[in-house]
Amino acid sequence: MVKVLAVEILKIRFGDNVPELQPGMDMDEVPAVVTVESIAKGVMDILDSLPEACTKCTHSEWQTDNGSHLKCGSCGEPAAYTNGDDLIKEWLSKVQEEKKLF
Ligand SMILES: [Zn+2]
Repeated sequence: MVKVLAVEILKIRFGDNVPELQPGMDMDEVPAVVTVESIAKGVMDILDSLPEACTKCTHSEWQTDNGSHLKCGSCGEPAAYTNGDDLIKEWLSKVQEEKKLF
């Protein structure tokens, strides 16, 4: 069962216009509020954490061969970026700093 605090955090993440988000809702109902837009935002947040240029050869030619891992298109060095889990942790810390929810 989703508690009041969890609903508050989910509303900050997904916006207030998700009436399905209610305390007491079943956990299994939560994935249904995840939209293409919210997934895309998560991917863009990860891409935003990419450095401007490769730390090894200084070129800015990020590319992917397999659709999941980024590497430098010039020297092949794997791209250093923040993963989604760490970005969520950072986001939660920021929310906590601002709102002192928990
Ligand atoms: Zn490089």
